[in-house]
Amino acid sequence: MPKTLKELVKIRRIPFDKEQLARVAKAYEFAKKAHAGQKRKNGVDDYFEHCVETAAILVKMGLGSISTAAALLHDVPEDTSYTMEDVEREFGKDVAFVIDGVTKVGKVRLRENAQEYFLENLRKMFLAMAADIRVVLIKIADRLHNMRTLEYLPEKKRERIARETMEVFVPIANRLGIGEVKGELEDLAFKYLDPENYKKIVKLEDEAFIGRQVYVDRAIKELCEEFKKEKLKVIDVHGRAKHYYSLFVKLQDRDMDITKIHDLSAIRIVLPTVANCYEALGIVHKKYNPLIGRIKDYISLPKPNGYRSIHTTVFGPDGKILEIQIRTERMHDEAEYGIAAHWIYSEKKSWKDFIVGKKKNVDIPEDQLRWITQLREWQRETGGQTDEFWASLKIDFFKNHIFAFTPKGDVIDLPEKATPVDFAYQIHTEVGDRMESAKINGKMVSLGHEIHNGDVVEIATSKESKMPNRDWLKFAKTVQAKSKIKASLRKHGIEVV
Ligand code: MN
Repeated sequence: MPKTLKELVKIRRIPFDKEQLARVAKAYEFAKKAHAGQKRKNGVDDYFEHCVETAAILVKMGLGSISTAAALLHDVPEDTSYTMEDVEREFGKDVAFVIDGVTKVGKVRLRENAQEYFLENLRKMFLAMAADIRVVLIKIADRLHNMRTLEYLPEKKRERIARETMEVFVPIANRLGIGEVKGELEDLAFKYLDPENYKKIVKLEDEAFIGRQVYVDRAIKELCEEFKKEKLKVIDVHGRAKHYYSLFVKLQDRDMDITKIHDLSAIRIVLPTVANCYEALGIVHKKYNPLIGRIKDYISLPKPNGYRSIHTTVFGPDGKILEIQIRTERMHDEAEYGIAAHWIYSEKKSWKDFIVGKKKNVDIPEDQLRWITQLREWQRETGGQTDEFWASLKIDFFKNHIFAFTPKGDVIDLPEKATPVDFAYQIHTEVGDRMESAKINGKMVSLGHEIHNGDVVEIATSKESKMPNRDWLKFAKTVQAKSKIKASLRKHGIEVV
């Protein structure tokens, strides 16, 4: 818990340079003065502590000096006698622009209908995001600190904020790939939304974990010896406990039986290069037999949110089941801090803040940016107006989505495990109904073939065929494709349920 400026900037792995440090220092003093005398809801803590804590979350992610200054000042225009003009005069356009975004996103009218309220909030978040992703990151950090100190608020308010966190902030953090923040937000929301189950899970995990700790330590020791023998340089080997909420979700599928959870504690191996990761995998499997079918190589096939690692489940010491995750240091940073990690790596070169899609130093790889671009396009197309649009965004978009391309380069968004059948109906009903065959990345595939992120899908149609094949219903994953297939079949007098 940093209190002083020195403690705050020390959190950063790559130190601020002189100019950046001056900006952060000025913002620190300004916010301190502006919030002087204000207390937080518990009546004890200085309000200013909230500003420092919010900034600290971002500094830990490696964000730049503009974001850090904006985080320190984020409540100034709204809650103190200083105005946005004062902030702009003192800190310039960039900092003021970000704070203005944060203030705007925060001014969401609370409506009678909770559903509408959430969607409205979500919409504003996204509009802000498309303009500047730093606004979203500050809002997430602000929310995380508010969640950490939620106990001081009245019960009714607690529940509303926790629900909003679960419905709006968790999915966004997940989509941005900020695994660590997402996990903490989710656990905190869980604590207030379902206190009974929360207590149950905490007890269950803590009990199970104490026993596991000795075991995990032993496996770590054995693996490290093995790596040393093979002369493989590792950066870090550590155990990680599962977050409470994700454990709860898993347990519900497994009769609440904790012995059925195989990744309750996992071992994480961090290495210098991708080649080292595969070497390490070989060494792990030589030492401990792998469970067949449980190796997931998210390095060659990253998850839609960009997550990369190799996961394997092995029979560890004494033949007990153990999950192992293998990744490079960069992948590790990306998994913990998501899109923010790219600041760390881009700032090594440029040391500058940037505005996504707006100007200078857009250093985030295209594939990471694609979904943001996609969002912006959707906004343009729909004007962001209909509630259905935002409702579908909320439900579908955040579940595991993939993007595939037409040969012309148009982006088609699909749910995970979608097939050429879904792709064809997404383009046009005609294309679906007349589909004859499909190619993925230039290769002929079956119509039930699974499409992966980034695939180029080519659909061949035929003039003769005018109706879909009944069997396609087995391959179709989207509601849209299924209902269109059924409608076409019905039109041809074929009965379908
Ligand atoms: Mn705040």
